[in-house]
Amino acid sequence: MATPLALYIHWPFCKSKCPYCDFNSHVRERIDEARWRAALLTELDHWAPALKDRELASIFFGGGTPSLMAPTTAAALIERARQHWPATRDLEITLEANPTSVEASRFAELRAAGVNRVSLGVQALDDAALKFLGRGHNADEARAAVKLASRLFDRFSFDLIYARPGQTLAAWRDELAAALAMAGNHLSLYQLTIEPGTAFATAFARGDFRLPDDETQGALYETTQETLAAAGLPAYEISNHARPGEECRHNLVYWRYEDYLGIGPGAHGRLMLGKAKNALKNFRAPETWLGAVERAGEGREETLLLSAPERRDEMLMMGLRLDKGIARAAFRAETGQDFEAALDPVRLADLREAGFLTLDDIGLRATAAGRQRLNAVLGALLA
Ligand code: SF4
Repeated sequence: MATPLALYIHWPFCKSKCPYCDFNSHVRERIDEARWRAALLTELDHWAPALKDRELASIFFGGGTPSLMAPTTAAALIERARQHWPATRDLEITLEANPTSVEASRFAELRAAGVNRVSLGVQALDDAALKFLGRGHNADEARAAVKLASRLFDRFSFDLIYARPGQTLAAWRDELAAALAMAGNHLSLYQLTIEPGTAFATAFARGDFRLPDDETQGALYETTQETLAAAGLPAYEISNHARPGEECRHNLVYWRYEDYLGIGPGAHGRLMLGKAKNALKNFRAPETWLGAVERAGEGREETLLLSAPERRDEMLMMGLRLDKGIARAAFRAETGQDFEAALDPVRLADLREAGFLTLDDIGLRATAAGRQRLNAVLGALLA
């Protein structure tokens, strides 16, 4: 059976830069879309021979704001990927979209291009909060975009950001109820974090706003988990909730540490080539990537052969985000070892005793408490 392949395509442009965002997203007055389309197709073609025995399981258009891409560009990329690889019967094609009316007007064309799942950056259902988050839409526009997406696409999801300044538990409960009333089978709910180098990092350091204290943040997280589980969309990953079977299959590839190819500026990949697992990284700056592709056919900046300990660590970092954790057989296949041999027994025992990890015949998983403080758990496990 052919090894499945997940394909990520990065569109790096946005209308404006949101103050919390540390993604590889850039604002340009104008872009030459034909040139960008040609470069993305060139990089896709570049990889096809090395991956010729794969089966395409998912395509994910991320960004940036890929809903600003012309639907004809998405169509050309989907068509080319399908020419290079046979697709699984249930090929998932996701596109991230902002819920402005301009972008929603392209949904039908995106659907016709083959996109069968959209993920909408709603972020809040409150106009003041949307303004604070620097978003280009209001709550009514977001509701309308979600409604349209639910009509046009087989599957859809939307994101919200919580633990915003001044947000109370009661207000978040109301917002969650409103979100659930218009949700499909998937929701992504992220806690606001202040990322270095963002406009929020500067404003936060200046004291312009404060985040809810740790106790409130903990209560907001727990309310989120309980409310969504009660509504039939339990967390399958720290910030992602779905009805069973409706998980984002592309993102599951990352968390299960399976193979994916990244195309476009700053895109990463993890690929088994021969017997070696490769970590691939493209040039991050859009114009640097574009120049490299036009010169050399690809925008790769770096290829690292991952050592066995690096593969173990990466698999743990990704897999413990999932509620199901890491299956024993998958860990053994990736690292050649069982958990008991690969991990420090004292650290593992301490974390199990503290109630942050469980280990049994099926595999290793972080408990709900462990997932809530996963960075600390990983620090203690891998130190
Ligand atoms: S639209 Fe998305 S990618 Fe673009 S700046 Fe805002 S959060 Fe970042």
